[in-house]
Amino acid sequence: MPTCVVCNKNVKDNELITCDICKNPTHAICSGLSGQEMDCFRSKNRKIRYFCTDCNIMEVIGGLKNEVEETFSSMQSMIQGSTASSTNGKTLFEDVINDVEDRLRRINNIVVSNLPESEESDNKNEDI
Ligand SMILES: [Zn+2]
Ligand SMILES: [Zn+2]
Repeated sequence: MPTCVVCNKNVKDNELITCDICKNPTHAICSGLSGQEMDCFRSKNRKIRYFCTDCNIMEVIGGLKNEVEETFSSMQSMIQGSTASSTNGKTLFEDVINDVEDRLRRINNIVVSNLPESEESDNKNEDI
């Protein structure tokens, strides 16, 4: 049985989370993932990755850079589109800013891309 790198206790299969970089095992509870994130992590074609504290630091720096670059290029095309087709450019721009802030807020311990909407109805997810 693998041993959790956080609390050094045995990890059962049904509560096992492994770091996607160093493959260290940890408890779901010790990983700090939320219930919804856990569901995504366990789904077959998961869109979520987990990194232990050591690996997290590197990956967040890399991920943040990509995320910011992506956001700015989508921002540019939105702004270009808005000046051509809309007189309401200011509101649209504010929407884009909110979107950027929202994306940056999601970058925490985990990197999420195209997180599918949860099929569980008991998760409160009010930001979509
Ligand atoms: Zn643990
Ligand atoms: Zn790791």
